[in-house]
Amino acid sequence: MNLLDSDEILTLNDKLTSFVLVSPNRVDDDDVDIFVVKAPGPPPSTPHDETRASSAAHPDETTEPCPDAAQGSKVRATLPETASIDCMTRLCDICHKALNYLGYYLDVFRSKGKEAAEDLPTACLLHHGAKTLQDGEDERCHLCVFLMATLRVERLAMESIDQSNIEICWQSNTTPIKRLHFALTHRGHPRSAKNYWNILKLHIWPSSEFDTALFGMSDEGSMKRHSSTESALTRDNAIHWLERCQANEDGKHSQCNPAVVDCLPLRLLDVKSAMETSMLKLAMPADTPDAFDSERQYVTLSHCWGKWGASELPVLTKENLAKRLRDGVPISELPKTFQDAVKVASWFNIRWLWIDSLCILQNCPEDWQRESIKMYDIYKNALLNISADDSPDGRFGCFRDRDPLAVLPINICFRGQENWKCWLTQDAHAVFNSITKSPLAKRGWVFQERQLSRRVLHFTSHELMWECCAEAPYFASETFPGGTPFKSVFNGKPKFQAKSNFGAMEHGSPAVFQAWNTICKEYSGKVFSHVKDKLVALSGLAQEFEVALPDDTYLAGIWRSTLPQSLLWQSSGESRPVPPSKHYLAPTWSWLSIDGPISPFHLDYSGSTYSLVNIVDVKTTAVFSSKRTASLKDASITMRCFMRPVEIRPDYKKKPWYMLAMGGGKAHELVIKDEDGEETSRVSNFHSDAFHFSFDIEWDQDMESGPEVVAGYFVPLTMNKPTENSSLSIQGLLVEPVGGDGQVEGEEGEATYRRIGVLSVFGPHCQRIKYKLVHDGTNEGEQDWDRLLQRLRVTHQSFENMKRAESKNESEGEVKGEAEGEAEGEAEKASEEINTKVIEADSREQLSVSERGAQIDISLVGVTERLYAFDEAVDEELGKRFERLDLKKIKLV
Ligand SMILES: [Zn+2]
Ligand SMILES: [Zn+2]
Repeated sequence: MNLLDSDEILTLNDKLTSFVLVSPNRVDDDDVDIFVVKAPGPPPSTPHDETRASSAAHPDETTEPCPDAAQGSKVRATLPETASIDCMTRLCDICHKALNYLGYYLDVFRSKGKEAAEDLPTACLLHHGAKTLQDGEDERCHLCVFLMATLRVERLAMESIDQSNIEICWQSNTTPIKRLHFALTHRGHPRSAKNYWNILKLHIWPSSEFDTALFGMSDEGSMKRHSSTESALTRDNAIHWLERCQANEDGKHSQCNPAVVDCLPLRLLDVKSAMETSMLKLAMPADTPDAFDSERQYVTLSHCWGKWGASELPVLTKENLAKRLRDGVPISELPKTFQDAVKVASWFNIRWLWIDSLCILQNCPEDWQRESIKMYDIYKNALLNISADDSPDGRFGCFRDRDPLAVLPINICFRGQENWKCWLTQDAHAVFNSITKSPLAKRGWVFQERQLSRRVLHFTSHELMWECCAEAPYFASETFPGGTPFKSVFNGKPKFQAKSNFGAMEHGSPAVFQAWNTICKEYSGKVFSHVKDKLVALSGLAQEFEVALPDDTYLAGIWRSTLPQSLLWQSSGESRPVPPSKHYLAPTWSWLSIDGPISPFHLDYSGSTYSLVNIVDVKTTAVFSSKRTASLKDASITMRCFMRPVEIRPDYKKKPWYMLAMGGGKAHELVIKDEDGEETSRVSNFHSDAFHFSFDIEWDQDMESGPEVVAGYFVPLTMNKPTENSSLSIQGLLVEPVGGDGQVEGEEGEATYRRIGVLSVFGPHCQRIKYKLVHDGTNEGEQDWDRLLQRLRVTHQSFENMKRAESKNESEGEVKGEAEGEAEGEAEKASEEINTKVIEADSREQLSVSERGAQIDISLVGVTERLYAFDEAVDEELGKRFERLDLKKIKLV
């Protein structure tokens, strides 16, 4: 079975019996996202081979792990005696049959070989709609409980589940199987990648490698989980996790225990007195230093305010400050999440608690500004952060009732598989979804709260999880109390401090900027109640990076040393610039000026990218001069650059019906103009990769409903040398003059522009960007352009051929391939057509660049070098016939 991308799947859907969809950038081919198996049908009828050893592994000593597991045997008893699996936890009939079929598949694979197994479907139907799944959960079928817990995390309505089938599938052609996949398909709809949703992956832990200790048990009989996360069992786990961190016995938790920075927030809540008096009092270390003499540890809370919280939270105000300091607020009047946070703090015997809305004056902008920029210190110095992940607002609290089975592994045993016994748990992605897909994870402020905190205790929909910045194990959960051996967590990366090499990374190394880019990408997708907080809510993380980048300067979400490449971020089609208001947010060249997800530019350190601009000056004016990473008053970049007026419009001529048949038309025309507005060329990106563009505004890619034409200026920022796999390219910004149609003169006389998008131009069109025609009153210049472009097309194409010929030669050992001969023929013909003999590829494979006297023996150099030689030669010729554009000094704001 081959791994295909999604487009291939759609094309080949009818021809395949099975296929796998691999997420982009996934290298581990075990880690596939979607399996689609065409018409798997029901599992073959009760497969059974009487001759093989059965019930080899049904050890009597195994105890039923769940309290009412006695009924499990009843369920099992309804299954045919020929069952291929034994299950120590309970399964409903439907789930048992499906796993039974998996056992059969494995057995065929083992006993009859891969070929025999190839004829068997690697999937089968599990549940048909919601009813049997809910019945399974009611019966306490372990697998049904897992599925239902996942569907709750996905927040999927029962009605839509009822219109779906749930299938179980696995990767064929390999044993042992490492994961089981569970997918939803829409009933009655044809199978396609769109109609196949991989909702759950179960990781298979063979008992031969992983014993009960992985699940925090001394033996199989000691599996205990409570039906609430508020239980003493849960509390003891959490206390143990903190103790493990603090004890640092394995030396891996040094990052979680940094040198003590004696830095307390301005105000804190007194947990100790609250537990005694039921009144939560505010305290100020500056006013009552005695109270903080011996007890200086505090915990923080990350929570969603939500719509409800914006008006209903009992926030701290100038008016109630004195009362809160003197008497406090009755605990009973606090929202459930805050009450729970007080309780959790008391678990750890911690006296102080910090909650934003109760510790910062919410009706005093000065107090808010002063305190909000201290978040870095507040979260970083807290003993731990309580994270109310599953609560959309304060009313929902931290704790949850849950089925204990949801945090216990399923234990099954495949008969005849050399005693193959294994544990099934949710795989890494599924486990972390309960954090990354939670209501809290969408919030902008919470992003850095989680990243900056040394330790986070997550309260998810069904279990508590521990995340610290240890090298490993930085993660533990109620399912894996001792930590998991997962290879990847949280998008493949732990909290960034946990990267053991982050601190040790060479200053300014690419890895630091890559880490920053990851943060930009994730952060840009977060939601803000007040979008004006966008800079300040990231300022703590920027400070953390300033430590790793001591020679660099932070410029509104971008690092100075990465200019101009980092200006080439791209807005997603759904994002848009934050509308101007009385609060200045960020310059248009910063991705922080955009409301919605963006993609940072992939910084190139290979040396094949070079800058086309000269950065003269960068200015940022911070609201607080001491916090340059926080809110700004003003920012600008002054640069010398090329500039060309351009227009982008939908290419109506090239957008007939068949574009729709190809899955949406995206043909556009790029019109490049001279400074005086005269059109110099027009390029279509239909059929070719002539150019790519993206606007910062919300726009529909077909430009059907938007403006008919977008006019602006192209400012080329970088040029990429051609490689064997990519052509020459220029990347730059689309800008427009500030202040309407006229160019506004800046302070120093330079014109001021704002960014409206990005544009890349590829291949032979690049040369055209840098030059303009000399107007000599004749049309000759324009014809020369055409000839040159044609010429370039031929040379680029001939190199494609040469490349092919080269590899052919290598494989066949021939001196000269036919294709190469052809290509040279074409090249020669083209060079005859053009009067100036820029390049001559003669029969002796000599490339001579006239007038420079340079001789390049192209039989000795690689294809890439030859491309350079051509580009340089053409460039030189262009320089002679055309005027190179002057660099202009402009200011970007
Ligand atoms: Zn079930
Ligand atoms: Zn730790």
